[in-house]
Amino acid sequence: MLYKAFLLKYAEIGIKGKNRYIFENALVKQAKDALARVDGSFSITKEMGRIYVEAESEYDYDEVIDALQHVFGIVAICPVKIVDSIEWDTVVAETISYIDKVYDNKDFSFKVAAKRANKSYERTSPEICIDMGEQLLNAYPEMHVDIHNPETVITIEIRNKTYIYSTIEPGPGGLPVGTGGKAMVLLSGGIDSPVSSYMIAKRGVTVEAVYFHAPPYTSERAKQKVVDLAARVARYTGTIRLHVINFTDIQMYIYDKCPHDQLTIIMKRYMLKLAQALAEKDGCQALVTGESIGQVASQTLQSMAVIEDACSMPIYRPVIAFDKQDIVDIAEKVGTYEISIQPYEDCCTTFVAKHPVTKPTLTSIQKSETHLVEKIDEMVQKALDTVEIIEVEAD
Ligand code: ATP
Ligand code: MG
Repeated sequence: MLYKAFLLKYAEIGIKGKNRYIFENALVKQAKDALARVDGSFSITKEMGRIYVEAESEYDYDEVIDALQHVFGIVAICPVKIVDSIEWDTVVAETISYIDKVYDNKDFSFKVAAKRANKSYERTSPEICIDMGEQLLNAYPEMHVDIHNPETVITIEIRNKTYIYSTIEPGPGGLPVGTGGKAMVLLSGGIDSPVSSYMIAKRGVTVEAVYFHAPPYTSERAKQKVVDLAARVARYTGTIRLHVINFTDIQMYIYDKCPHDQLTIIMKRYMLKLAQALAEKDGCQALVTGESIGQVASQTLQSMAVIEDACSMPIYRPVIAFDKQDIVDIAEKVGTYEISIQPYEDCCTTFVAKHPVTKPTLTSIQKSETHLVEKIDEMVQKALDTVEIIEVEAD
């Protein structure tokens, strides 16, 4: 086990001034949760604007990197060799052996970067750089120094121990989940809403989800698909509270009473109303959807305006201006694509009209909705009262 620790580098949260600790603490919490899913025992320490993960047992390198690559806020993960001593000759010998183990081919340019926490250390930072550079060149004549544009920066940090690192594994970027408020995602089994969940969480927002289920028109498999998608997104967000609303009665009622070319619009309006009720109950500040302009009739600007009139909460649509292929690319990266393309029916497609309106007016929709007055409030209340809540953990 060459690396006993990992230095977690973060970018944007470094600039949050007095609130920095909030971001750091959230990052530490998320990293702990992510590492709890990995074999091994780890401790996380926060010191002087740095976060270290130290391994307290054997572990699998790839598993740890993968877990940390799901923690938003981390921009880089540097595996670190820790040397218990700070005695110079030992530091040199250990650095030489480190380079030997990490780089098979030593024909690369480098510079040494030094950091001293202990200002009474026998060498200053520039001296550490120069002396270590010289020792490395002696040990490996194929290496060459390039101060301005090195291929590799070899960092030596002297604290109460010595920390050596030169490898950078990319992190996912973003802000730690838990620092950006909470939102309710309308999560369907499609490609777009899981990607929206990922994107909003990447800005630090905690996500909850609601899925509108319409048995028997939508099967248990369709519901399971949504649970599976939530579990995949949960690798990034932590456990997701998924609300499953039984939407059948409302959908059938709209189908019976309203013009079929307006079905999708009216159904979506009721989805938003229900989502808002759940969101308010759980202290969410916004709703999130996977809508993208022009994808389908209900996603024209006119349709979305009429749909969102049904609720007063802000609605965020992270993929609103994305091409489908760009959304697919993210879905593949996040790991939701494979699940999303499974062929289970969606409640919207079951009832979709042949020629849905693309330019609805609010007045015409509201007029149609007057046909629902007799039973709709009762149905909405029943849907809320019978909501099923599933705590979906990362898969
Ligand atoms: P997706 O790929 O996310 O399913 P879509 O392009 O298929 O989106 P629509 O079916 O028109 O689009 O739905 C638009 C948005 O409405 C979805 O992205 C999702 O946020 C929400 N939505 C649609 N159907 C459901 C459902 N059954 N449960 C929860 N949310 C839904
Ligand atoms: Mg869909």
